[in-house]
Amino acid sequence: MPHPCLTCGACCAHFRVAFHWSETDAAPGGLTPGSLTEPLDPHRVALRGTWGDTAIRCVALRGEVGVGTSCEIYAKRPSPCRDVNASWEQGKADAHCDRARAAHGLAPLQPSDWGAAIA
Ligand code: SF4
Ligand code: SF4
Repeated sequence: MPHPCLTCGACCAHFRVAFHWSETDAAPGGLTPGSLTEPLDPHRVALRGTWGDTAIRCVALRGEVGVGTSCEIYAKRPSPCRDVNASWEQGKADAHCDRARAAHGLAPLQPSDWGAAIA
């Protein structure tokens, strides 16, 4: 069984991903490519594609939501992405995960989805 996030990607196409600019490679020790961000306010940037008037979809998301997805910058993703918990991965439901999946017509994950999941 593949890791459930690999056949989802809904949260990467639903929420604004905003974080302090110092997480970008414009700052010493920053990881997230600044070229994939745009200014949000004097202190924060947002991943391109995750806010504005058009449909939300992070510029780093590859694949088709609900079918097969991956993050182009997985090792360099910013803290909001690292903080996301998939429902039942840690033994409890997660409202953000459930909401993002619902927005894309996907049922919430269940404990049984983690039976033999492989990352
Ligand atoms: S955390 Fe939830 S919404 Fe995000 S990719 Fe994983 S299963 Fe989908
Ligand atoms: S950086 Fe990766 S994990 Fe974060 S929203 Fe974009 S595609 Fe998803």
